[in-house]
Amino acid sequence: AKKAGKRCYRMFSEKMRIDMYERLRLQERLSSALRDNRNIFLYYQPIIDVKTGRTMGREALIRWYQPDRGWVSPTDFIPVAENSDLIDRLGEFVLTKACCDAAGWDDGLPVAVNVSAAQLGRDTLTSMVRAALARSGLSHDRLEIEVTETAVLNNEAGAIRDLLQIRDLGVRVALDDFGTGSSSLTHLLSFPFDKIKIDGSFVQDAVQRKKAAAIVGAIAGLGARLGVTTVAEGVETRDQLRLVVREGCRAIQGFHTGRPAPMENDAHVIAALTGE
Ligand code: C2E
Ligand code: CA
Ligand code: CA
Ligand code: CA
Repeated sequence: AKKAGKRCYRMFSEKMRIDMYERLRLQERLSSALRDNRNIFLYYQPIIDVKTGRTMGREALIRWYQPDRGWVSPTDFIPVAENSDLIDRLGEFVLTKACCDAAGWDDGLPVAVNVSAAQLGRDTLTSMVRAALARSGLSHDRLEIEVTETAVLNNEAGAIRDLLQIRDLGVRVALDDFGTGSSSLTHLLSFPFDKIKIDGSFVQDAVQRKKAAAIVGAIAGLGARLGVTTVAEGVETRDQLRLVVREGCRAIQGFHTGRPAPMENDAHVIAALTGE
C-alpha cells in the first residue's frame, strides 16, 4: 500500500510540474502577446432588448490566437493571467480597446467589459477605467463593467469600494453569472447593480426542467422589483428565447441572436492570421 501511495504521489507531482511548466509557458507567451499587441483581439456579442428586438449594447470578449496552436479559450488563459501581474496588463488592454472601439460605433451603443476578481479591491481599477475613458473620449454612460459574484466575494469590502468609485464616474456595473456563486442575494443588497445577467446554465436547462424555468422567472421578477434589467445569457435556441421572454427577462444574449464577432478592421487581420 505504501508503494502504491508513493507511486501515486510521484505521478501527482509530475503532473503538477507539467502543469506549472505549461502555466509559465502560457504566461510568457501571453506577456509577449500583450507587449507586442499581437494576436489578441476583442470580439463583441450583441445584447438584445426583447421588447424592440434591437441591439441595446455589446459585450467585449477577449480572444487569443497562438499561430502554432490555434485559439486559446479565455477560460484557460484568464486564470493564468490572474495568477500573475499579467491580469492588470490584460485588463488595461481590454478596457482601453473596448472603449476606443465603442467610441467609433455609429450607433452610440454601450459596451460591457468583463473585470476579473483579481482586478478588484486593489484601488487600481478606478484609475484604469478613468484613463480608458479619457483616452478614448467615450461618454461614461456608455461603459458597463461586468463582475461575477465570486469576484465580489473574494474581497467584499475592497471590491465594493472599487465598484462604488466606478459607479460614481457614471459607469454602470452588472452582476455576471448570477445564481452560480453562493449568497447571490446578499450581493444584491450590498451593491446597487444596474444589471443582472442570468447564467446560461439556467437558461439552457429551463426548457427541459421546470425548476430551472422557475429560477429564471424568479430572478427576472426580482430584477423587476429592484428596478434592475435582467439579461438571459446563453440563449441558443428559439425555444429558450420564448421561455426566457415568458419568464420576464428584459434582454437576451446568446448564439441564437448573435455570436461574438470581431470588428471589421480586426476581421481582416484575423483572416490573414488564421487563414479562416
Ligand atoms: P462570460 O462573461 O459569462 O461570457 C459569456 C460567455 O458565453 C462567452 O464565452 C461567450 O462567447 C459565451 N456565449 C455567448 N453566447 C452563448 C451561447 O448561446 N451558448 C454558449 N454555450 N455560450 C455562449 P467566452 O468568450 O469563451 O468567455 C468565457 C469567459 O471568459 C467569460 O464568461 C468571462 O468570464 C471570461 N472573459 C472573456 N473575456 C474576458 C475579458 O476581457 N476579461 C476578463 N477578465 N474575463 C473575460
Ligand atoms: Ca460577462
Ligand atoms: Ca456570464
Ligand atoms: Ca461565465
